[in-house]
Amino acid sequence: MSTFQDLGLNEDLLQAITDLGFTKPSEVQEKAIPLLLESEGDLVALAQTGTGKTAAFGFPMLEKIDVDSRTTQGLILSPTRELCLQITHEMKLYGKYCKGLNVVAVYGGSSITDQAREIKRGAQIIVATPGRMKDMISRRLVDISKIQYSVLDEADEMLNMGFKEDITDILSHTPEDKSTWLFSATMPKEVAAIAKNFMYNPKEITVGRKNESTTNVSHEYYLVNARDRYQALKRLADANPDIFSVVFCRTKRDTQKVAEHLIEDGYNAGALHGDLSQNQRDLVMNAFRKKQIQMLVATDVAARGIDVDDVTHVINYQLPDEIETYTHRSGRTGRAGKTGVSMVIVSKSEVRKIKSIERIIKRQFEKKDIPDGMEICEVQLMSLANKIHNTEINHEIDRHLSSINALFEDTSKDELIKKFFSVEFTRFYNYYQKAKNLNVSDSSSDVDSGRDYRGSKNSTRYFINVGGKDGFDWMKLKDFLKEQLNLGRDDIFKVETKDSFSFFNTENELKEKVLAHFTDFKHDGRFVNVEVSENRGRAGRRDNKKGGKRTGRRREDRKETSGNRSDRRRSEGKSKPRRPNSGDIGSSRPRRSRR
Ligand code: AMP
Repeated sequence: MSTFQDLGLNEDLLQAITDLGFTKPSEVQEKAIPLLLESEGDLVALAQTGTGKTAAFGFPMLEKIDVDSRTTQGLILSPTRELCLQITHEMKLYGKYCKGLNVVAVYGGSSITDQAREIKRGAQIIVATPGRMKDMISRRLVDISKIQYSVLDEADEMLNMGFKEDITDILSHTPEDKSTWLFSATMPKEVAAIAKNFMYNPKEITVGRKNESTTNVSHEYYLVNARDRYQALKRLADANPDIFSVVFCRTKRDTQKVAEHLIEDGYNAGALHGDLSQNQRDLVMNAFRKKQIQMLVATDVAARGIDVDDVTHVINYQLPDEIETYTHRSGRTGRAGKTGVSMVIVSKSEVRKIKSIERIIKRQFEKKDIPDGMEICEVQLMSLANKIHNTEINHEIDRHLSSINALFEDTSKDELIKKFFSVEFTRFYNYYQKAKNLNVSDSSSDVDSGRDYRGSKNSTRYFINVGGKDGFDWMKLKDFLKEQLNLGRDDIFKVETKDSFSFFNTENELKEKVLAHFTDFKHDGRFVNVEVSENRGRAGRRDNKKGGKRTGRRREDRKETSGNRSDRRRSEGKSKPRRPNSGDIGSSRPRRSRR
């Protein structure tokens, strides 16, 4: 293992490295720095974020540029504003003893004239996002015709985000004989094509193997019914009281929703997605950096610039559409030499994707069980005990001690401890004492596959008097119900449409909400009727060409309850439908005090 001195860096850089507290080069630095210092030429480096790659290209670039000249000599392209700012920040730290150095960040969402002004003062290095850079070139606000070094950082991400044309356009304004250094976590064929078309005989280095995940991260999956996803997420958080995590969802809508529900349920959570303004995103990211947010719920695109080193867990609330994206997600933890856990919550229909991911990352997943309620209570109790044990005594309490002692005069130490812990523990205990087992075994009959239409005793099956004749297939009906009831995809399940009527399930807790919403409910001018069904499945057997009447249910479907629904609702004192509220994704947990 070499030292930074061995790599051939100059004194200014070595001093900055000492200040930063870097004791030894990371693998990518050890491989890239000597190569880039020794010779001019192109480089393809396969390295994940968090491996120290910014310094791997940053130190050689700083060593090679002429700080006495005001000409722009280095251009670093990165996929997101956050990453662009992070690289700029790091470059300034690395170059803090390089007198006269000016590194300028160029990115969208901020004043282009201010950025142009800064460049005009003489920026030897520009760090830019492709969109804004292209804009600046077309407005002649920047001159990159004398660039000697260009870096394409997170090239796979830039291409994923559709920047191929912008990159091509930007590079066409740079000299042919410059050196291009391409850094990418994965090597899809699009990145290989860039290397082929824009680089001349590049040297290659690989940290880990292509597309492979870092060894600092362990991978776990949890098999649950899709509708229990949110409950499973909460349990994973509760079972890891010091969690500092990024929770990935597939869509902006789910991201927002999951974050809102977590906040309602007392977690320190925040959402990060493209529908937020830049200002909102900055606020969330700042809170996350300061660890005021413990669970950052994010879309893949928004999470690209996350530059936080000590993320303990990545939770895949839903798996990404592109399996390769998993490498990026899990790379958000296990950074800068730390270890991390990447957890995946899957339903049975998604389990096969785990195998495909294993093939790509060349690592095995461990199948683990969602902890049961009592396990969580124990973890929480012990975490509290440890926290108390490690708490520094605040002697301001001393002057109140005599009154407190008087109050507990007759209380034994054991009793006092029990009372003390009960303050926090009872909330968890009450919440979890009747918590169901969320795990689905690999071999159990698949409740989600649609065979058990009646669902478990935790779910309610409904009849609804619309079906294929009304233009609904199961997906459209699920979307319709989801929208009407303001629920998530997983909250409506086992949707089965027939010609003139359909069935669907929800958790029992949602029963009131569903029935209330569809009281006196009209859609396209006709009454839509929802009732609890006794249908034990095989609705298809009852459905024939003539079908049920379009306005109601057939006799055999009506036997669920005593009396009709309006009678029942009246007896429950609920004559008016209530608007759905968004908190029904699951029962909320005991509120935890902010840490
Ligand atoms: P990067 O992969 O460039 O995003 O770097 C990840 C983090 O590791 C950054 O916070 C760097 O400051 C830090 N880092 C980079 N090189 C080293 C090193 N040799 N030793 C310790 N930390 C490092």
